[in-house]
Amino acid sequence: MPTSSFNLDNSYARALPGCYVAWPPAPVAAPRLLHFNHALADELGLGLDAAGADELAALFSGQALPEHVAPIAQAYAGHQFGNFSPQLGDGRALLLGEAIDRHGRRRDLAFKGSGRTPFSRNGDGKAAVGPMLREVLIGEAMHALGIPTTRALAVVATGEPVYREQTLPGAILTRVAASHIRVGTFEYFAAREDRERLKQLADYSIARHDAEFADAPDRHAHWLRAVAERQSALLARWMNVGFIHGVMNTDNMSIAGESIDFGPCAFMEAYHPATVFSSIDQHGRYAYANQPGIAQWNLARFAEAILPLLADDEDKAVEIATDILAGFGERYRRHWLQGVRTKLGLDPALTRSNDDDPRDRALAEDWLALLQAGNVDYTLAWRRMADAAEGRPEPLQALFADTPALQAWLARWQERCAAEAPLSGAQRAQAMRRVNPVIIPRNHRVEEALEAASARGDLGPFEALLAALRRPFDDDPQFARYAEPAPSGYTAGYRTFCGT
Ligand code: AMP
Ligand code: MG
Repeated sequence: MPTSSFNLDNSYARALPGCYVAWPPAPVAAPRLLHFNHALADELGLGLDAAGADELAALFSGQALPEHVAPIAQAYAGHQFGNFSPQLGDGRALLLGEAIDRHGRRRDLAFKGSGRTPFSRNGDGKAAVGPMLREVLIGEAMHALGIPTTRALAVVATGEPVYREQTLPGAILTRVAASHIRVGTFEYFAAREDRERLKQLADYSIARHDAEFADAPDRHAHWLRAVAERQSALLARWMNVGFIHGVMNTDNMSIAGESIDFGPCAFMEAYHPATVFSSIDQHGRYAYANQPGIAQWNLARFAEAILPLLADDEDKAVEIATDILAGFGERYRRHWLQGVRTKLGLDPALTRSNDDDPRDRALAEDWLALLQAGNVDYTLAWRRMADAAEGRPEPLQALFADTPALQAWLARWQERCAAEAPLSGAQRAQAMRRVNPVIIPRNHRVEEALEAASARGDLGPFEALLAALRRPFDDDPQFARYAEPAPSGYTAGYRTFCGT
């Protein structure tokens, strides 16, 4: 099999013996390429331009890895729904290694669904076509929305059955990530009181993601602050776009600050802060509005794990950690408000001087209250605000039953806009359409695409949806069906499943 120029480093394996197990992918019956992101492969400099579908299927199912690629299963622990599991790890995933992309960034390539590993516990190590294609759709949507995210490079059908509630076709995903270092990675070594490995892992993570303070004597405190800052920014982006991750366990929180592990995730339709879509989240722990608080809770677990690195004296270490974590809420709120301001058509450059103006916060909160009271589609409402900026409030009004309340709010908003900048309505609308998407991965469209692919082997709906998701800010009539909300009865009963 000619796999000549496919080359990966594995600095994680080299630097961190004892943090993983070297492990091969399982053999696969009949690998068949379902999806390959050629543009991403090119960005990663993988040298696969000439590779055909069969060669890519063999490669990205692990059947024809070049000799120097030695996959590993990474060790990690995690707080799952609040409870600590001291040993999780890559039970169905393998890190292949790292590519240095065209911008000089080191990026992980990892399989998901590549068979059992020493961390599999009772799992079969496999993944199904539907959930792996879901990772493609959500990752590409997030990327197109400008939100830091892991992405899918390839999905290969295995030709083997996977046994869940139903028998499903199996698949292997190749995921690209800034790294797969998680909060849970540190918890694993903290739980074992393995101070040496904890420190090695921390220094590896700092060198990889926060090299600017690698030599600072108090680098671990800087690092904790940087990790918290990335999470606060990421959570603000999720909240601004209406994304609900669904399983914000500490093993699903990346130190690099990317969105990762798209299992039972979904985007908000009609706005309600208590929205939960995940079938396994029975108590709503990971409901939409809880997400920033959960991120902070996860960061507290992270801080606990790395406490011995922050200072020799435990009280001092706790003081450092507490101080940094206490700033999370404020950082998050500022990121959130900056995001909301741009969504409202306000110019962040003009408002930065008054970073936390309570009037803007009230304007945004009152808007959300209107959406909630009227059961209004979150994405469409924001999008149509741009029409109102151009003097055409009708499309927006059509979403609301209570027009007087909307009118009153619009009057306040217009006054706020007028006070700020000498923009024409058209200019403001244009800026708003660059940040308020018209197309998000709507649940009924995602399910329709996954169902066609999984049950009938028809990738047409998946590819059409993917094309639309890649242009979230364009009003293109050919994508109109992807902009429409699901019927409300559909959303009320919608649940996504995990672990398939
Ligand atoms: P997740 O819910 O996908 O974030 O996974 C949580 C943990 O369960 C990780 O340690 C996974 O490797 C493991 N896991 C999930 N599904 C499987 C499976 N089918 N086989 C083996 N391990 C699994
Ligand atoms: Mg996970």
